Amino acid sequence: MERYEHSRTGVISLYEEQLKRGFGSLRFDSFLEDEFRASYRLTNFVKSRLVIAFALLIVVVMSVGHIASGSTSEHPVTAGIYGLGAMLLALVLTLAVSYARSPRLYTACLGLCALAIGIAGTTVDVQASLVGQGYYFAGQIGWVLMIWMMFGLLFVPAAILTAAVSIIYVVAAVYAGLAPEEIYFESFMLLNANFLGGYSCYKIEHGARQTYLESNILAQRAERDGLTGLYNRRAFDEYVERIWRQSRREGSQLTVMLVDIDRFKAFNDLYGHQAGDDALRRVACVIADSVQRPLDFAARFGGEEFALVLYGPADKLGRIPERLRESVQKLNIDHERGVDAKVLTVSVGVAIADPDTNRSLAGVIQMADEALYQAKENGRNRVVVNKTSTTSIETGKFRAHARAAG
Ligand code: GH3
Ligand code: MG
Ligand code: MG
Repeated sequence: MERYEHSRTGVISLYEEQLKRGFGSLRFDSFLEDEFRASYRLTNFVKSRLVIAFALLIVVVMSVGHIASGSTSEHPVTAGIYGLGAMLLALVLTLAVSYARSPRLYTACLGLCALAIGIAGTTVDVQASLVGQGYYFAGQIGWVLMIWMMFGLLFVPAAILTAAVSIIYVVAAVYAGLAPEEIYFESFMLLNANFLGGYSCYKIEHGARQTYLESNILAQRAERDGLTGLYNRRAFDEYVERIWRQSRREGSQLTVMLVDIDRFKAFNDLYGHQAGDDALRRVACVIADSVQRPLDFAARFGGEEFALVLYGPADKLGRIPERLRESVQKLNIDHERGVDAKVLTVSVGVAIADPDTNRSLAGVIQMADEALYQAKENGRNRVVVNKTSTTSIETGKFRAHARAAG
Protein backbone atom coordinates (compact mmCIF):
# COMPACT_ATOMS: atom_id res chain seq x y z
CA MET A 1 0.00 0.00 0.00
CA GLU A 2 1.18 3.50 -0.77
CA ARG A 3 2.44 5.28 2.36
CA TYR A 4 2.62 8.57 0.53
CA GLU A 5 -0.29 10.74 -0.43
CA HIS A 6 0.12 12.80 -3.56
CA SER A 7 -1.64 16.08 -3.25
CA ARG A 8 -1.72 19.02 -5.62
CA THR A 9 1.22 20.67 -3.96
CA GLY A 10 3.39 17.61 -3.60
CA VAL A 11 3.70 14.54 -1.50
CA ILE A 12 3.33 13.86 2.15
CA SER A 13 4.67 10.88 4.01
CA LEU A 14 1.85 9.63 6.22
CA TYR A 15 4.42 8.62 8.84
CA GLU A 16 5.87 12.14 8.92
CA GLU A 17 2.41 13.65 9.14
CA GLN A 18 1.54 11.41 12.06
CA LEU A 19 4.82 12.22 13.82
CA LYS A 20 4.11 15.95 13.42
CA ARG A 21 0.52 15.60 14.63
CA GLY A 22 1.61 13.58 17.65
CA PHE A 23 -0.09 10.59 19.23
CA GLY A 24 -0.58 11.47 22.89
CA SER A 25 -3.72 9.36 22.99
CA LEU A 26 -1.68 6.37 21.78
CA ARG A 27 -3.57 6.04 18.53
CA PHE A 28 -2.51 6.57 14.92
CA ASP A 29 -4.81 7.67 12.16
CA SER A 30 -6.19 5.48 9.39
CA PHE A 31 -4.42 2.26 8.46
CA LEU A 32 -1.20 3.21 10.29
CA GLU A 33 -2.83 2.02 13.52
CA ASP A 34 -3.55 -1.47 12.17
CA GLU A 35 -0.12 -1.61 10.61
CA PHE A 36 1.57 -0.60 13.88
CA ARG A 37 -0.41 -3.12 15.92
CA ALA A 38 0.39 -5.95 13.56
CA SER A 39 4.09 -5.10 13.69
CA TYR A 40 4.02 -4.63 17.50
CA ARG A 41 2.36 -8.01 18.00
CA LEU A 42 5.02 -9.59 15.84
CA THR A 43 7.96 -8.09 17.77
CA ASN A 44 6.25 -8.84 21.06
CA PHE A 45 5.91 -12.49 20.10
CA VAL A 46 9.42 -13.63 20.89
CA LYS A 47 10.16 -11.12 23.66
CA SER A 48 7.18 -11.97 25.84
CA ARG A 49 7.78 -15.68 25.37
CA LEU A 50 10.83 -15.21 27.58
CA VAL A 51 8.71 -13.45 30.21
CA ILE A 52 6.20 -16.30 30.19
CA ALA A 53 9.00 -18.83 30.56
CA PHE A 54 10.39 -16.81 33.48
CA ALA A 55 6.95 -16.63 35.17
CA LEU A 56 6.61 -20.36 34.65
CA LEU A 57 9.93 -20.93 36.41
CA ILE A 58 8.83 -18.81 39.40
CA VAL A 59 5.54 -20.70 39.71
CA VAL A 60 7.34 -24.06 39.51
CA VAL A 61 9.77 -22.98 42.26
CA MET A 62 6.84 -21.73 44.37
CA SER A 63 4.94 -24.99 43.84
CA VAL A 64 7.91 -27.11 44.87
CA GLY A 65 8.43 -24.93 47.94
CA HIS A 66 4.75 -25.08 48.76
CA ILE A 67 4.54 -28.86 48.52
CA ALA A 68 7.80 -29.34 50.44
CA SER A 69 6.53 -27.15 53.29
CA GLY A 70 3.75 -29.68 53.82
CA SER A 71 0.18 -29.27 54.94
CA THR A 72 -0.47 -27.80 58.35
CA SER A 73 -3.66 -26.39 59.72
CA GLU A 74 -2.39 -22.82 59.27
CA HIS A 75 -1.02 -23.41 55.84
CA PRO A 76 -3.47 -22.91 52.97
CA VAL A 77 -2.08 -25.87 51.08
CA THR A 78 -5.23 -26.75 49.15
CA ALA A 79 -5.93 -23.29 47.81
CA GLY A 80 -2.21 -22.99 47.15
CA ILE A 81 -2.07 -26.17 45.10
CA TYR A 82 -5.17 -25.26 43.07
CA GLY A 83 -3.98 -21.70 42.59
CA LEU A 84 -0.46 -22.68 41.54
CA GLY A 85 -1.90 -25.43 39.33
CA ALA A 86 -4.14 -22.92 37.53
CA MET A 87 -1.16 -20.60 37.06
CA LEU A 88 0.96 -23.42 35.64
CA LEU A 89 -1.82 -24.40 33.26
CA ALA A 90 -2.37 -20.82 32.02
CA LEU A 91 1.36 -20.26 31.49
CA VAL A 92 1.98 -23.57 29.73
CA LEU A 93 -1.02 -22.99 27.44
CA THR A 94 0.16 -19.48 26.58
CA LEU A 95 3.66 -20.73 25.89
CA ALA A 96 2.24 -23.47 23.64
CA VAL A 97 0.07 -20.98 21.74
CA SER A 98 3.14 -18.82 21.13
CA TYR A 99 4.36 -21.62 18.85
CA ALA A 100 1.12 -21.59 16.82
CA ARG A 101 2.55 -18.61 14.92
CA SER A 102 -0.58 -16.54 15.20
CA PRO A 103 0.33 -13.27 16.91
CA ARG A 104 -3.33 -12.30 17.23
CA LEU A 105 -4.30 -15.52 19.02
CA TYR A 106 -1.17 -15.34 21.15
CA THR A 107 -1.95 -11.78 22.26
CA ALA A 108 -5.49 -12.81 23.22
CA CYS A 109 -4.02 -15.76 25.12
CA LEU A 110 -1.57 -13.49 26.96
CA GLY A 111 -4.50 -11.37 28.14
CA LEU A 112 -6.46 -14.40 29.34
CA CYS A 113 -3.36 -15.77 31.04
CA ALA A 114 -2.82 -12.45 32.84
CA LEU A 115 -6.41 -12.51 34.08
CA ALA A 116 -6.38 -16.20 35.05
CA ILE A 117 -3.18 -15.80 37.06
CA GLY A 118 -4.55 -12.63 38.67
CA ILE A 119 -7.61 -14.55 39.86
CA ALA A 120 -5.62 -17.61 40.95
CA GLY A 121 -3.18 -15.33 42.77
CA THR A 122 -6.06 -13.56 44.51
CA THR A 123 -7.45 -16.80 45.97
CA VAL A 124 -4.01 -17.86 47.24
CA ASP A 125 -3.14 -14.43 48.68
CA VAL A 126 -6.49 -13.87 50.40
CA GLN A 127 -6.47 -17.36 51.89
CA ALA A 128 -2.90 -16.82 53.07
CA SER A 129 -3.92 -13.52 54.70
CA LEU A 130 -6.69 -15.34 56.56
CA VAL A 131 -4.07 -17.51 58.28
CA GLY A 132 -1.78 -14.59 59.05
CA GLN A 133 0.51 -14.76 56.04
CA GLY A 134 -0.35 -11.35 54.63
CA TYR A 135 3.06 -11.09 52.93
CA TYR A 136 1.67 -13.20 50.06
CA PHE A 137 0.13 -9.93 48.89
CA ALA A 138 3.54 -8.93 47.47
CA GLY A 139 2.87 -11.50 44.73
CA GLN A 140 -0.21 -9.57 43.66
CA ILE A 141 1.79 -6.34 43.33
CA GLY A 142 4.44 -8.17 41.33
CA TRP A 143 1.82 -9.62 39.02
CA VAL A 144 0.14 -6.27 38.36
CA LEU A 145 3.51 -4.71 37.51
CA MET A 146 4.34 -7.65 35.27
CA ILE A 147 1.11 -7.22 33.28
CA TRP A 148 1.81 -3.51 32.84
CA MET A 149 5.45 -3.70 31.95
CA MET A 150 6.58 -7.12 30.81
CA PHE A 151 3.84 -8.73 28.78
CA GLY A 152 4.30 -6.28 25.93
CA LEU A 153 0.59 -5.46 25.96
CA LEU A 154 -0.62 -2.13 24.66
CA PHE A 155 -1.66 0.43 27.27
CA VAL A 156 -5.43 0.04 26.93
CA PRO A 157 -5.67 -3.76 27.24
CA ALA A 158 -3.06 -3.68 30.02
CA ALA A 159 -5.15 -1.03 31.85
CA ILE A 160 -8.32 -3.13 31.57
CA LEU A 161 -6.56 -6.28 32.80
CA THR A 162 -4.76 -4.67 35.72
CA ALA A 163 -7.95 -2.86 36.76
CA ALA A 164 -9.81 -6.20 36.66
CA VAL A 165 -7.10 -8.02 38.65
CA SER A 166 -6.92 -5.22 41.26
CA ILE A 167 -10.69 -4.92 41.68
CA ILE A 168 -11.12 -8.70 41.93
CA TYR A 169 -8.46 -8.74 44.66
CA VAL A 170 -10.08 -5.98 46.72
CA VAL A 171 -13.58 -7.45 46.34
CA ALA A 172 -12.28 -10.90 47.36
CA ALA A 173 -10.50 -9.38 50.37
CA VAL A 174 -13.71 -7.63 51.48
CA TYR A 175 -15.78 -10.75 50.83
CA ALA A 176 -13.34 -12.95 52.78
CA GLY A 177 -13.54 -10.47 55.67
CA LEU A 178 -9.90 -9.35 55.92
CA ALA A 179 -9.22 -6.63 58.47
CA PRO A 180 -10.28 -3.16 57.15
CA GLU A 181 -6.85 -1.63 57.76
CA GLU A 182 -5.25 -4.44 55.75
CA ILE A 183 -7.74 -3.86 52.91
CA TYR A 184 -7.13 -0.08 52.94
CA PHE A 185 -3.40 -0.52 52.93
CA GLU A 186 -3.42 -3.13 50.16
CA SER A 187 -5.84 -1.10 48.02
CA PHE A 188 -3.55 1.89 48.39
CA MET A 189 -0.53 -0.21 47.42
CA LEU A 190 -2.37 -1.64 44.39
CA LEU A 191 -3.25 1.89 43.35
CA ASN A 192 0.41 2.91 43.62
CA ALA A 193 1.56 -0.12 41.64
CA ASN A 194 -0.99 0.67 38.94
CA PHE A 195 0.17 4.28 38.70
CA LEU A 196 3.78 3.18 38.44
CA GLY A 197 2.99 0.40 35.94
CA GLY A 198 0.58 2.55 33.92
CA TYR A 199 3.11 5.35 33.63
CA SER A 200 5.84 2.96 32.46
CA CYS A 201 3.52 1.16 30.05
CA TYR A 202 2.46 4.49 28.54
CA LYS A 203 6.09 5.51 28.12
CA ILE A 204 7.02 2.15 26.59
CA GLU A 205 4.17 2.24 24.09
CA HIS A 206 4.75 5.89 23.23
CA GLY A 207 8.43 5.10 22.62
CA ALA A 208 7.55 2.08 20.48
CA ARG A 209 5.19 4.20 18.37
CA GLN A 210 7.80 6.91 17.99
CA THR A 211 10.44 4.39 16.92
CA TYR A 212 7.97 2.79 14.53
CA LEU A 213 7.23 6.08 12.76
CA GLU A 214 10.88 7.15 12.70
CA SER A 215 12.19 3.88 11.29
CA ASN A 216 9.53 3.91 8.58
CA ILE A 217 10.39 7.50 7.71
CA LEU A 218 14.06 6.54 7.43
CA ALA A 219 13.25 3.52 5.26
CA GLN A 220 11.11 5.73 3.02
CA ARG A 221 13.80 8.37 2.75
CA ALA A 222 16.31 5.77 1.58
CA GLU A 223 14.15 4.79 -1.37
CA ARG A 224 12.28 8.01 -2.09
CA ASP A 225 13.20 11.11 -3.96
CA GLY A 226 13.11 14.04 -1.54
CA LEU A 227 11.49 16.52 -3.90
CA THR A 228 8.69 14.47 -5.45
CA GLY A 229 8.18 11.58 -3.05
CA LEU A 230 8.36 9.15 -5.95
CA TYR A 231 10.82 6.26 -5.75
CA ASN A 232 14.38 7.34 -6.46
CA ARG A 233 16.73 6.02 -9.08
CA ARG A 234 18.29 3.47 -6.75
CA ALA A 235 14.89 2.02 -5.85
CA PHE A 236 13.95 2.02 -9.53
CA ASP A 237 17.05 0.05 -10.51
CA GLU A 238 16.37 -2.54 -7.83
CA TYR A 239 12.68 -2.87 -8.55
CA VAL A 240 12.84 -2.94 -12.33
CA GLU A 241 15.38 -5.77 -12.18
CA ARG A 242 13.09 -7.81 -9.94
CA ILE A 243 9.94 -7.15 -11.95
CA TRP A 244 11.77 -7.87 -15.19
CA ARG A 245 12.76 -11.33 -13.97
CA GLN A 246 9.20 -11.95 -12.81
CA SER A 247 7.76 -10.95 -16.19
CA ARG A 248 10.18 -13.32 -17.95
CA ARG A 249 9.28 -16.15 -15.57
CA GLU A 250 5.56 -15.64 -15.97
CA GLY A 251 5.69 -14.93 -19.69
CA SER A 252 4.17 -11.51 -19.26
CA GLN A 253 4.60 -8.29 -21.19
CA LEU A 254 6.40 -5.44 -19.46
CA THR A 255 6.08 -1.79 -20.36
CA VAL A 256 8.66 0.85 -19.53
CA MET A 257 7.69 4.49 -19.95
CA LEU A 258 10.10 7.41 -19.81
CA VAL A 259 8.58 10.84 -19.30
CA ASP A 260 10.59 14.00 -19.83
CA ILE A 261 9.37 17.55 -19.27
CA ASP A 262 9.61 19.65 -22.41
CA ARG A 263 11.86 22.69 -22.45
CA PHE A 264 12.30 22.60 -18.73
CA LYS A 265 15.59 24.44 -18.77
CA ALA A 266 13.78 27.38 -20.33
CA PHE A 267 11.05 27.04 -17.70
CA ASN A 268 13.64 27.34 -14.93
CA ASP A 269 15.24 30.31 -16.67
CA LEU A 270 11.86 32.04 -17.05
CA TYR A 271 10.22 31.38 -13.72
CA GLY A 272 13.08 30.46 -11.41
CA HIS A 273 14.25 27.27 -9.79
CA GLN A 274 11.60 27.38 -7.07
CA ALA A 275 8.78 27.42 -9.60
CA GLY A 276 10.64 24.62 -11.41
CA ASP A 277 10.62 22.50 -8.26
CA ASP A 278 6.94 23.18 -7.75
CA ALA A 279 6.18 22.14 -11.34
CA LEU A 280 8.21 18.94 -10.85
CA ARG A 281 6.12 18.09 -7.81
CA ARG A 282 2.88 18.63 -9.64
CA VAL A 283 3.97 16.54 -12.61
CA ALA A 284 5.06 13.84 -10.13
CA CYS A 285 1.51 13.78 -8.71
CA VAL A 286 0.11 13.07 -12.18
CA ILE A 287 2.70 10.35 -12.66
CA ALA A 288 1.88 8.80 -9.30
CA ASP A 289 -1.80 8.75 -10.30
CA SER A 290 -0.94 6.76 -13.43
CA VAL A 291 0.29 3.77 -11.45
CA GLN A 292 -2.68 2.12 -9.84
CA ARG A 293 -2.03 -1.60 -10.00
CA PRO A 294 0.01 -3.37 -7.31
CA LEU A 295 3.01 -4.26 -9.47
CA ASP A 296 3.21 -0.92 -11.27
CA PHE A 297 5.85 1.50 -10.20
CA ALA A 298 6.86 5.13 -10.78
CA ALA A 299 10.21 6.76 -10.08
CA ARG A 300 12.08 9.96 -10.63
CA PHE A 301 14.67 8.79 -13.09
CA GLY A 302 16.80 11.91 -12.75
CA GLY A 303 16.42 15.65 -13.21
CA GLU A 304 13.12 16.31 -14.98
CA GLU A 305 12.76 12.76 -16.22
CA PHE A 306 10.49 10.10 -14.77
CA ALA A 307 10.17 6.36 -15.35
CA LEU A 308 7.13 4.12 -15.04
CA VAL A 309 7.11 0.36 -15.11
CA LEU A 310 3.80 -1.29 -15.92
CA TYR A 311 3.35 -5.01 -15.54
CA GLY A 312 1.08 -7.15 -17.69
CA PRO A 313 -0.52 -7.15 -21.14
CA ALA A 314 0.18 -3.87 -22.93
CA ASP A 315 -3.28 -3.76 -24.55
CA LYS A 316 -4.77 -3.49 -21.07
CA LEU A 317 -2.70 -0.35 -20.46
CA GLY A 318 -4.87 1.36 -23.04
CA ARG A 319 -4.44 5.07 -23.01
CA ILE A 320 -2.25 5.38 -19.92
CA PRO A 321 0.67 7.12 -21.71
CA GLU A 322 -1.60 9.40 -23.71
CA ARG A 323 -3.74 10.19 -20.65
CA LEU A 324 -0.62 11.03 -18.68
CA ARG A 325 0.53 13.44 -21.36
CA GLU A 326 -2.93 15.08 -21.48
CA SER A 327 -3.15 15.32 -17.69
CA VAL A 328 0.16 17.18 -17.49
CA GLN A 329 -1.02 19.60 -20.15
CA LYS A 330 -4.27 20.08 -18.23
CA LEU A 331 -2.33 21.15 -15.14
CA ASN A 332 -2.13 24.41 -17.07
CA ILE A 333 1.25 25.40 -15.72
CA ASP A 334 2.22 28.54 -17.67
CA HIS A 335 5.25 28.09 -19.87
CA GLU A 336 5.79 31.10 -22.10
CA ARG A 337 8.38 29.20 -24.12
CA GLY A 338 6.49 25.91 -24.02
CA VAL A 339 5.82 23.71 -27.00
CA ASP A 340 2.21 24.16 -28.10
CA ALA A 341 -0.28 25.79 -25.84
CA LYS A 342 2.11 27.92 -23.80
CA VAL A 343 1.77 25.45 -20.96
CA LEU A 344 4.17 22.93 -19.50
CA THR A 345 4.08 19.61 -21.37
CA VAL A 346 5.87 16.28 -21.38
CA SER A 347 7.15 13.89 -24.01
CA VAL A 348 6.69 10.19 -23.41
CA GLY A 349 8.73 7.27 -24.73
CA VAL A 350 7.19 3.84 -24.30
CA ALA A 351 8.84 0.44 -24.75
CA ILE A 352 6.75 -2.71 -24.65
CA ALA A 353 8.75 -5.87 -24.08
CA ASP A 354 7.09 -9.05 -25.31
CA PRO A 355 7.54 -12.16 -23.23
CA ASP A 356 9.61 -13.89 -25.90
CA THR A 357 11.88 -10.98 -26.74
CA ASN A 358 15.57 -11.68 -26.75
CA ARG A 359 16.31 -8.19 -25.49
CA SER A 360 17.87 -7.57 -22.13
CA LEU A 361 16.34 -5.23 -19.58
CA ALA A 362 18.96 -2.62 -20.46
CA GLY A 363 17.92 -3.03 -24.10
CA VAL A 364 14.27 -2.38 -23.24
CA ILE A 365 15.08 0.74 -21.22
CA GLN A 366 17.20 1.88 -24.14
CA MET A 367 14.19 1.33 -26.44
CA ALA A 368 12.08 3.57 -24.20
CA ASP A 369 14.84 6.17 -24.29
CA GLU A 370 14.96 5.91 -28.04
CA ALA A 371 11.18 6.38 -28.24
CA LEU A 372 11.47 9.42 -25.99
CA TYR A 373 14.14 10.83 -28.25
CA GLN A 374 11.80 10.28 -31.22
CA ALA A 375 8.98 12.07 -29.40
CA LYS A 376 11.31 15.03 -28.85
CA GLU A 377 12.46 14.96 -32.44
CA ASN A 378 8.88 14.82 -33.73
CA GLY A 379 8.01 18.04 -31.95
CA ARG A 380 7.60 17.19 -28.21
CA ASN A 381 4.33 16.96 -26.22
CA ARG A 382 3.62 13.53 -27.69
CA VAL A 383 3.87 9.80 -27.09
CA VAL A 384 6.01 7.40 -29.12
CA VAL A 385 5.72 3.65 -28.60
CA ASN A 386 8.34 1.02 -29.41
CA LYS A 387 7.51 -2.65 -29.32
CA THR A 388 10.19 -5.35 -29.17
CA SER A 389 8.49 -7.38 -31.90
CA THR A 390 8.24 -4.50 -34.35
CA THR A 391 11.27 -2.36 -33.67
CA SER A 392 14.90 -2.90 -34.29
CA ILE A 393 17.29 -0.47 -32.79
CA GLU A 394 20.75 0.19 -34.03
CA THR A 395 22.51 0.33 -30.75
CA GLY A 396 25.11 2.83 -31.95
CA LYS A 397 22.40 5.42 -32.50
CA PHE A 398 21.44 5.56 -28.87
CA ARG A 399 21.42 9.08 -27.60
CA ALA A 400 22.39 9.41 -24.00
CA HIS A 401 20.13 11.85 -22.26
CA ALA A 402 21.70 14.24 -19.86
CA ARG A 403 20.40 12.99 -16.57
CA ALA A 404 21.25 14.95 -13.55
CA ALA A 405 21.13 12.67 -10.50
CA GLY A 406 17.74 13.03 -8.81
P1 GH3 B 1 13.89 18.98 -23.68
O1 GH3 B 1 12.56 19.48 -24.13
O2 GH3 B 1 14.75 18.57 -24.81
O3 GH3 B 1 13.79 17.93 -22.67
O4 GH3 B 1 14.61 20.24 -23.03
P2 GH3 B 1 14.90 20.50 -21.52
O5 GH3 B 1 15.25 21.94 -21.34
O6 GH3 B 1 13.80 20.00 -20.69
O7 GH3 B 1 16.15 19.54 -21.26
P3 GH3 B 1 17.56 19.83 -20.65
O8 GH3 B 1 18.14 18.47 -20.40
O9 GH3 B 1 18.35 20.74 -21.52
O10 GH3 B 1 17.31 20.57 -19.30
C1 GH3 B 1 16.77 19.93 -18.20
C2 GH3 B 1 16.61 20.97 -17.13
O11 GH3 B 1 15.94 20.42 -15.99
C3 GH3 B 1 17.92 21.49 -16.63
C4 GH3 B 1 17.75 21.61 -15.16
O12 GH3 B 1 17.92 22.95 -14.74
C5 GH3 B 1 16.34 21.20 -14.90
N1 GH3 B 1 16.24 20.42 -13.68
C6 GH3 B 1 16.73 19.18 -13.45
N2 GH3 B 1 16.47 18.80 -12.16
C7 GH3 B 1 15.81 19.83 -11.58
C8 GH3 B 1 15.29 20.06 -10.27
O13 GH3 B 1 15.37 19.21 -9.36
N3 GH3 B 1 14.68 21.25 -10.03
C9 GH3 B 1 14.57 22.19 -11.02
N4 GH3 B 1 13.93 23.32 -10.72
N5 GH3 B 1 15.07 22.02 -12.23
C10 GH3 B 1 15.67 20.87 -12.53
MG1 MG C 1 13.35 17.93 -20.72
MG1 MG D 1 15.88 15.43 -19.70
